[in-house]
Amino acid sequence: MLKKTITLIEGDGVGPEVTGAARRIIEASGAPVEWEICLAGAKVFKMGDSSGVPEETINSIKRNKVALKGPLETPVGFGEKSANVTIRKLFETYANVRPVREIPGIQTPFSGRHIDMVIVRENVEDLYAGIEYMQTPGVAQGLKIITRKGCEKIARYAFELARAEGRKLVHCATKSNIMKLTEGLLKKTFEEVAKDYPEIEAKHIIIDNCAHQLVIKPEAFDVIVTTNLNGDIISDLASGLVGGLGIAPGSNIGDEVAIFEAVHGSAPDIAGKGIVNPTAVILSSVLMLRHMGLFDYANKIEEALVYTLGETNIKTSDLDPKNPVSTTEFTDEVIKNLGKKAKDWEIRSCKPIKMPVVDKNPDMVKVENRRVVGADIFIESDLDANALGKSLDEISLDSTLSLKMISNRGVQVYPQIADQKPDVVDHWRCRFTLDDVKGCLQDIDLASLMAKIGTAHRWMHVEKLKEFDGHSGFTKAQGEN
Ligand code: NAD
Repeated sequence: MLKKTITLIEGDGVGPEVTGAARRIIEASGAPVEWEICLAGAKVFKMGDSSGVPEETINSIKRNKVALKGPLETPVGFGEKSANVTIRKLFETYANVRPVREIPGIQTPFSGRHIDMVIVRENVEDLYAGIEYMQTPGVAQGLKIITRKGCEKIARYAFELARAEGRKLVHCATKSNIMKLTEGLLKKTFEEVAKDYPEIEAKHIIIDNCAHQLVIKPEAFDVIVTTNLNGDIISDLASGLVGGLGIAPGSNIGDEVAIFEAVHGSAPDIAGKGIVNPTAVILSSVLMLRHMGLFDYANKIEEALVYTLGETNIKTSDLDPKNPVSTTEFTDEVIKNLGKKAKDWEIRSCKPIKMPVVDKNPDMVKVENRRVVGADIFIESDLDANALGKSLDEISLDSTLSLKMISNRGVQVYPQIADQKPDVVDHWRCRFTLDDVKGCLQDIDLASLMAKIGTAHRWMHVEKLKEFDGHSGFTKAQGEN
């Protein structure tokens, strides 16, 4: 059989130990694969490449379309970007898929509850877009970017995955009660997409309740689709229910490329000690082999791994601190057990996933009517709310715009609401709206107002207030009418 080439990124910390174990097991299974070993992460940063991902690695992934990746250390602080996030974005691997299933032999407080779910985390948008600014010396801002297109892709992927794996229920977990436009966009899109999958039950759940229910009744979940940051947190939580990071696999799926990796990081505290649990990367390899259509090899490795964990007493120290084996001993045992069948374990039958096709046109949401009804001008000032408000009222006297309100940290502070005196900083959002309620704000009028404001105050950011087809495209401040 012709061998398929996989890009192998060994990664940082425990990465070479766990990917090395997975590689040995895959080779021992007889799977017809060969490896192209590439660099990314800490080693690359140290060589002076601040992207963390060299061109050879990018080209290799592009060519092979499948990669097995060890964890990459993320530099902490300012400057370098995360190599992980760079890889996800470069290849638009928009779905981060994390199966969470109870494995016989791994004792947890939830053993016997038959937890078996998949968390589908949107993988490229949200606060991970990495667009951050210091607005004033003491106020930082990050943009939470959620697109209709991104939501449709991830929602459809979740339903397609449910179909392929014969799952019956998809939860969409968002914080749409608070972030009505951003998180709300996933909820709204999910509800629209759900209509195309009538055989699958679709439910929305608020993310904090989802976290709660995951601990109270984890067996009630089947597929959960969610935004990037929510997904990051709840998938770690969910992995804790079935035995922890040592056994939690994952994949990053895009239209062209799929990258398989454990949920865990480089575990610097145990790196090089020979004690890391390779199960998560072995299970990620099983997902990879299935993705490549090598179902028999995937099943053989999954059976041998579950047999080892369930029927022999051979476990690494995270699962059996009293009587642990080393990473190498564990790997040897899995290899020895290739071909054995695990008790109480059924391989989930799955069909190849039909990848969702979403319009490639970047401007995919068209509207009939749009109107700019005002602008939020953000000002850095040490005046108090009243003094700033009065000054802006005067400055805007002969403008087509009037000051509607000022908010600080999201709460209206001018005009003051009752006797409320919220804690304020030097970052004021000053909302101006058109005097002509049916008009459309002209750039020249906005520019003229900003020029006047600029003579008296320091403004740092402007946001137009838009209406699309009569729907407001902005939210109100806390307390605003
Ligand atoms: P971590 O997952 O590396 O470690 C958390 C804890 O879990 C540690 O105590 C570690 O020893 C333990 N642990 C993790 N995997 C284990 C395994 N397979 N077997 C036994 N114990 C295991 O998380 P962290 O310490 O927050 O992150 C360390 C570094 O990894 C950071 O630089 C972080 O940015 C990076 N990271 C990378 C990825 C990735 O590449 N996908 C994911 C998460 C974190």
